[in-house]
Amino acid sequence: MFIANQNFNRLPESYLFSDVARKIKDFREANPESKVIRMDIGDVSLPLPECVVEAMSRAAAEMGQSASFHGYGPEQGYHFLREAVAETDYRSRGIKGISADDIFISDGAKSDLANLGDIFGSGVRPAVVTPAYPVYIDSNVLAGRGGIPENGRWSGISFLPARPESAFLPPLPHRGVTADVIYLCYPNNPTGTVLSLDKLQKWVDYALANKSLIIYDSAYEAYISTPGIPHSIYEAEGADKCAIEVRSFSKTAGFTGVRCGYTVVPRSLEFTFIDGTKASLNRIWCRRQCTKFNGVGYVVQRAAEALYTPEGREAIRRNVAYYMDNAALLRSALLGIGADVVGGVDAPYVWFRPKSELDSWQLFDRLLHRAAISSTPGVGFGKEGDGWLRLTGFNTAALTSEACSRLSHINDIF
Ligand SMILES: *Cc1c(COP(=O)(O)O)cnc(C)c1O
Repeated sequence: MFIANQNFNRLPESYLFSDVARKIKDFREANPESKVIRMDIGDVSLPLPECVVEAMSRAAAEMGQSASFHGYGPEQGYHFLREAVAETDYRSRGIKGISADDIFISDGAKSDLANLGDIFGSGVRPAVVTPAYPVYIDSNVLAGRGGIPENGRWSGISFLPARPESAFLPPLPHRGVTADVIYLCYPNNPTGTVLSLDKLQKWVDYALANKSLIIYDSAYEAYISTPGIPHSIYEAEGADKCAIEVRSFSKTAGFTGVRCGYTVVPRSLEFTFIDGTKASLNRIWCRRQCTKFNGVGYVVQRAAEALYTPEGREAIRRNVAYYMDNAALLRSALLGIGADVVGGVDAPYVWFRPKSELDSWQLFDRLLHRAAISSTPGVGFGKEGDGWLRLTGFNTAALTSEACSRLSHINDIF
């Protein structure tokens, strides 16, 4: 008799983004004349850079000739891309220890963030800084590590709430809190906050002292503009002994539909199995990938390689500047109406709380009904996000400035 995975039944019925989409659809149907501006979108609006499209076309043409056809490739990714990543994103930035052997090309950050759970031993307790990108918690719940849901939390997961009083900076686990594997995301989605090297070093020191593993989601690394903010966790001393870093080409180069990213699992990352024998995480992640994954398409990897040419670097710089101009407009419009605003400086997310006692969903409704602007309710990322909304810089410049003008000129939105 087949029985379905009960954990699917434990996850909350409605998913944040589908609730938002439904409310927008209802509003549009009731108000066909009003133009809703989507400021909730986590998808990008700029198309692929020209150099990427050219690389894809060349690679597609190669695939059509027997002399240059590519079938199954290495599960870890082609050397040309792993080497470009290691050289450009690490060695040339002064991070010495990372080489092509430590890089695993993926079909995007989200799958790897979820799949990494395959290498956790049984009994490992995850710790998540909230508000959080949902996959960290949901993938652990589906894998059976959630325990019992109680009051918006899971008994099997340690919640590390980042609160408005501390500018949404993540608190180190208190004494007595177990954090065997720690998910960190900086620059942060949804709050747009960043960690200084000092603060990041404290997390690395904590992980080393407690033999914890850090999974560092740096999907927004390219958005950092403030000098001194670390772009990689490996800028912190000892991180190559306790951290896996996950990155994506989605938000910087329009790869949300192309699907490519990479995960860094340094060969120096050594933990133990339950029987006490040594476990090289690089080796077991490689084994996991070879068992369950057949690699990313050749055409896609050539497309990603193009991002490491001078034209590719320039295209990323232009994209980031475009979205960050949007974020800056949003920030100033929101500051102009007296809201508390976080983020939008080193990340494309602007996280805000207007002067109001309303909860996130009430704020969401007001913004939609009075200004026809959609947002993402902060509470959807964790309960400390209640009373806050997230706007993104990913829409077009024209629609972002229209949204800002509505924010500034419509009275009593909140
Ligand atoms: C968008 C996003 C990702 C997912 O990226 P893909 O590579 O498209 O899967 C991962 N982490 C965070 C925090 C994101 O916002």
